[in-house]
Amino acid sequence: RQEQYQALRHLPSRTRDGRDIRLFLNAGLLVDLPHVKESGADGIGLFRTELQFMIASQFPRTGEQHALYKAVLEAAGDRPVTFRTLDIGGDKVLPYMHQIEEENPALGWRAIRLGLDRPGLMRSQLRALLQAAAGRELRVMFPMVAAVEEFDAARDVVEREITFLRRHGKPLPDLVKLGAMVEVPALLFQLDEILERVDFLSVGSNDLFQFLYAVDRGNARVAGRFDTLSTSVMRALKSIVDKAGEAGVPVTLCGELASKPLEALALIGLGFRQLSMTPSAIGPVKAMVLETDAGEVGDLVRRHVAADAERPLREALRDFAEQRG
Ligand code: PEP
Ligand code: MG
Repeated sequence: RQEQYQALRHLPSRTRDGRDIRLFLNAGLLVDLPHVKESGADGIGLFRTELQFMIASQFPRTGEQHALYKAVLEAAGDRPVTFRTLDIGGDKVLPYMHQIEEENPALGWRAIRLGLDRPGLMRSQLRALLQAAAGRELRVMFPMVAAVEEFDAARDVVEREITFLRRHGKPLPDLVKLGAMVEVPALLFQLDEILERVDFLSVGSNDLFQFLYAVDRGNARVAGRFDTLSTSVMRALKSIVDKAGEAGVPVTLCGELASKPLEALALIGLGFRQLSMTPSAIGPVKAMVLETDAGEVGDLVRRHVAADAERPLREALRDFAEQRG
């Protein structure tokens, strides 16, 4: 199997009916970097910057952050890398950071909320990113955006940092693209507004599912209770792809859904053309893409999403996949 996937490495990720599906990696540490070339991925769709912070014994200095980001960009070569700003808080704790007791940490002081309340931390990271990407494109996205005003505030921090670096004669990226993660359901009802502001969107299906169904993603007792391919999830995702398509804004999905071939098939059926996944999933997902007719699976998924069908989409997709090898 592994060898079979190896053989696919240099093939374009294209469906039988000629749709290009770009496959990106999720990464977060130096050890992930060799996978970029090995897997034949189109780039890094999600770089989880908090991992460096989680394995450190104190806050990494701007210089250390800069060194990591530079190594990531070098390993990616001319492939794009999307950095996500610190997503700490919730289940991602930093042992050296003063902990506040929270009754519901998943709903608490985390991710962009913490970043906006601690702009020093956010600025240090953005400075490291802006300098690491000098002379090339920098793509940055913010986690857990729940209101468009948070995105506006984060963009202001980026702009202030750019002005600061420019004033000090520092080299800057050629282009800075800013995006938001869609992982809080409230953002589903602000799609028009967020799409006017961002250069791209990235769906965090792990958190989006957790918050849509109110099931703790780490709690085995409830985690399997609802299907990730349920009509509710599919409709939520469809509204994102459709609106982003109308607005001409690129959208990627970077949660675990994209790492499973059957789920990725559903995503292609919904209209997603960019998926970011764990490195070991690139081979199996690409094998699925090569066998898939995007038009056919699109019809099947659309029918299912429009009206609740008698049988679950998961079953219908399984049959679909089996019939087509
Ligand atoms: C997600 O929530 O789907 C996501 C990609 O982010 P993380 O898993 O790091 O929370
Ligand atoms: Mg998330």
